[in-house]
Amino acid sequence: MKRKVLKTDERRTDLSGMDTSVLIIYTGGTIGMKTNPETGSLAPFNFEQIEQEVPELKKFGIKIDTFTFDPIIDSSNVKPEQWCELASIIKKNYHAYDGFVVLHGTDTMAYTASAVSFMMQNLDKPIIFTGSQIPIGVLRTDGKENLITAAEIAAAKENGKSIVPEVCIYFENNLFRANRTSKYNADHFSAFRSYNYPPLAEAGIDIHYNYPYIRKVDAFLPSFDVAASLCSDVVVIKLFPGITEQTLHTILSLSHIKGVVLETYGSGNAPMYDWFINELKEAIDKGVIVLNVTQCSVGTVNMDLYDTGKELSRIGVINGRDITTEAAVTKLMYVLGQNFTRVQIINHLTHAIRGEMTDF
Ligand code: ASP
Repeated sequence: MKRKVLKTDERRTDLSGMDTSVLIIYTGGTIGMKTNPETGSLAPFNFEQIEQEVPELKKFGIKIDTFTFDPIIDSSNVKPEQWCELASIIKKNYHAYDGFVVLHGTDTMAYTASAVSFMMQNLDKPIIFTGSQIPIGVLRTDGKENLITAAEIAAAKENGKSIVPEVCIYFENNLFRANRTSKYNADHFSAFRSYNYPPLAEAGIDIHYNYPYIRKVDAFLPSFDVAASLCSDVVVIKLFPGITEQTLHTILSLSHIKGVVLETYGSGNAPMYDWFINELKEAIDKGVIVLNVTQCSVGTVNMDLYDTGKELSRIGVINGRDITTEAAVTKLMYVLGQNFTRVQIINHLTHAIRGEMTDF
């Protein structure tokens, strides 16, 4: 994909001082952790200490308020209930702030940020997720730069309008569209990748916004709202050579399952054994939604390419194109959580609703 990065001096960005306000919502994660002297392991600590660790925030020239989750959590413990809570906090404070920064653990950040992107309707302000690989209290932390730049992006405006009216993840110099992002590295500071969509901004000496790829706000859309309702009755089935009929049958027979993210091979291929196709067809005929997502990080599902893909298409498997598994799971939770008809659900899954996949 070709991308054009404009120089900052081609566009005038504006941090208009104390008239601009950002709400930092602290949910937990490594960024706010310190060593527990009794156990020697990392445990969350109070957000007040983050402010002590980053006095630069006070000098920033924008009004910054903070909201701390109670309890703060390691993101491995996050549940859709907390995604709804987060969305509701943003809704309650939406008109009081110009932008939002969400501090979150990196492990499930791509899921939380994707879920929030689907719940936000007609968003016209930035919601920037960030965190860190090293706690903010440690000398070599990546948390300070991540937090300060995330706050700057959340506050950045041009002609009085937010430059990035999207849910994003900012991490180690890159701003990504949240629902295009995956955590790919457990060790490096550069922990996230957006394999199928270019960064929305790159931070060096200046922040270079990648304007052509940033969502434009349609002035005629209805006003901002939040759909804080998700359905967790979904499952991810990752194909592997040797998956048995019994395994597939057991999962698909679970009566509460309403949606399946099927992680297939390459461009959306799966085995053509009769039992495999029959199990899937039976589930789809019962009303289960099956979304085809590739196990490859880069590229897209194309179910017309091989007979194996065509067969899936024939029985009603939906093409997830280049969507990430994180976005597929949370989009399914979102569409199944609304009062949509089956036709509306399929329609929402077939098209990008928040820029989460490439529409052809
Ligand atoms: N376990 C931590 C979390 O996801 C890791 C991190 O923040 O990087 O909450």
